[in-house]
Amino acid sequence: MAGLKLKHVYKVYNGGVRAVNDFNLDIKDKSFVVLVGPSGCGKSTTLRMIAGLESITSGQLYIDNALVNDVESKNRDIAMVFQSYALYPHMTVYQNMGFSLKLRHEKPDVIKEKVLKAAETLEISDLLDRKPKELSGGQRQRVALGRAIVREPNVFLLDEPLSNLDAKLRVQMRTEITKLHEKLQTTFIYVTHDQTEAMTMGDVIVVMNKGFVQQADAPVTLFEDPTNLFVATFLGSPQMNIIECDLVEKDDKVGVRLEGVESNVVWLKDNTAKQIKNSGISFEKKYLFGIRPDHVSVSKTGIPAHVEAVEQLGDETIIYTTIEGHKQHVVLKAPLTIDINSQDDIHIEFSKEKVYLFDKDSEHSLIGMPSYNKVPCSIKDNKLVIGKQELELDTDYTSHLLARVKDEPIFLAVKPEHVEMESNEANVELKAKVEFVEERTNYNIIYASMDGVTPYLIFRSDKNRKFKSGDNISVYLPLDKMYLFNKDDDSLFSREEIFENKANCHVTNKNGKTTIKINGGDTLVYDDLGVEDGDYEFILKQEGTQVVFDKKNAKGIEEEVCKVATPNQFLKVSCYDEEPQHKINTIFVKIKGFEEYVTLVINNNFSVYKMPVFKINITPDNFELRKL
Ligand code: ADP
Repeated sequence: MAGLKLKHVYKVYNGGVRAVNDFNLDIKDKSFVVLVGPSGCGKSTTLRMIAGLESITSGQLYIDNALVNDVESKNRDIAMVFQSYALYPHMTVYQNMGFSLKLRHEKPDVIKEKVLKAAETLEISDLLDRKPKELSGGQRQRVALGRAIVREPNVFLLDEPLSNLDAKLRVQMRTEITKLHEKLQTTFIYVTHDQTEAMTMGDVIVVMNKGFVQQADAPVTLFEDPTNLFVATFLGSPQMNIIECDLVEKDDKVGVRLEGVESNVVWLKDNTAKQIKNSGISFEKKYLFGIRPDHVSVSKTGIPAHVEAVEQLGDETIIYTTIEGHKQHVVLKAPLTIDINSQDDIHIEFSKEKVYLFDKDSEHSLIGMPSYNKVPCSIKDNKLVIGKQELELDTDYTSHLLARVKDEPIFLAVKPEHVEMESNEANVELKAKVEFVEERTNYNIIYASMDGVTPYLIFRSDKNRKFKSGDNISVYLPLDKMYLFNKDDDSLFSREEIFENKANCHVTNKNGKTTIKINGGDTLVYDDLGVEDGDYEFILKQEGTQVVFDKKNAKGIEEEVCKVATPNQFLKVSCYDEEPQHKINTIFVKIKGFEEYVTLVINNNFSVYKMPVFKINITPDNFELRKL
């Protein structure tokens, strides 16, 4: 039995395909975690890294608190079950199941005991003498599971194990795997592209898209509080209706005006209106309104809709309608007894309790629980200033801040689930006032205001903690979960510790040229810099250096990060790590003569994984010399 921890895990394949980016997850012992997402989103790559079948480009993987990045697959105490059952055709079921134990030189009677026990668990005791070709798909998959079980691993990894089975068998095997998990009391990590499979099987679902984790949480939370448009529309069947809209304001009320049916404003509930007004979002922009089919109903008045199709399912009716100005169907669920037919003209209305709103550009959710609290702040004398409050920052925190943090407005980003209620050594206190509380299945959402700060601080609290409007409270932000961003959403906070980019050097002047010899490293030559001969500290600035490309490497990369090297004005560097953001890429490189790795902020077009060894162009603007 084992818990796992993935910290900032990346996978970049040769050739630069970024299959997995900054994957962070704590997997509790005995949990059932499902990785779900469309094909190519990085699920299998993640699973294969956990299995040790694929190397981890950067980041750490811990199994039971032990770092296992470099531990061979066979020593990780995990078992993997694949989509293709990969059974040996010439062996019987018994032999297939016992094979790994035989390889481990287990005694025959031990093998027998384990195989028989696993066969009993999986109800395949009567199939032990058969060969794989004499089995059905479901039976073969059970044998594949049995082969994993006999090894009594700490972690089971399952990669789309049911996708070769027909629909009926898949549903049946789903339940069996869930039961097996309960019986074995072991950690399961399961990969699927099927959202129903994910929602019905996992305790924790990790939704991935394009190599990024979108959200990781309990199924009901993903359903109630999707962090963005992708999660909202990926989960749920039929999927959430999304309609373009703008926002209107009248007195204290905020309404959603749907594209095409402008006369029918959907007025939002009071708390939602407060949240929207408080968040400072623009009333001039277009947004995406979302509502699940379960929360659309047929009404006497409301939005005129034309029925395109009616599907009678076992226990409910799905009605596909069109509304003016909107190309996609607006879908609703209705009771079986409803008397509505294709081509009817009806009216529909939306339950204002259950509406969603997304930003059109970032696709982030704008109401309910946000993915991040984005709190405006500034840094003054190593203190974080938030409205009228000042937070002391210790050096553990400030040593991760990039030199980019200047006087510009910045944002503190904290996830709602990371706001803590108890003080400890690793968090800082903020005072806030509860404005209102919303109930969810697993927790309550608290919307709290802070003096001099516009958006609410939004966080989760246990259902048994009774907060009410007007309560003055203290909340605590963990230092290692507080990130700072600039207005471009580029992080100013790095997961790597940041050192001064410092090397010792010796300066000599001769014939109008200044030569800087980095001790133990390269030599740089410039027209007279006006500094005396002697020993100096060479401080390389984080921003402004440019990567030097030869023609071959520059392919597909924009000119602005390319520069031709001036002879004697470059340093050779080798890749250590990188943190790509929106506009910038923070790269960590090794340079000969520098005490620690060097942190550079460059344009995001360049990845160190495309070119692990390269040169950077150094102009006199890129460094400072400090007399020793
Ligand atoms: P999923 O399991 O979600 O379908 P994968 O993890 O298999 O996705 O793949 C993620 C991305 O990595 C895809 O773009 C895929 O093409 C790419 N990829 C997978 N394996 C390799 C490989 N061995 N070399 C290069 N690219 C790969």
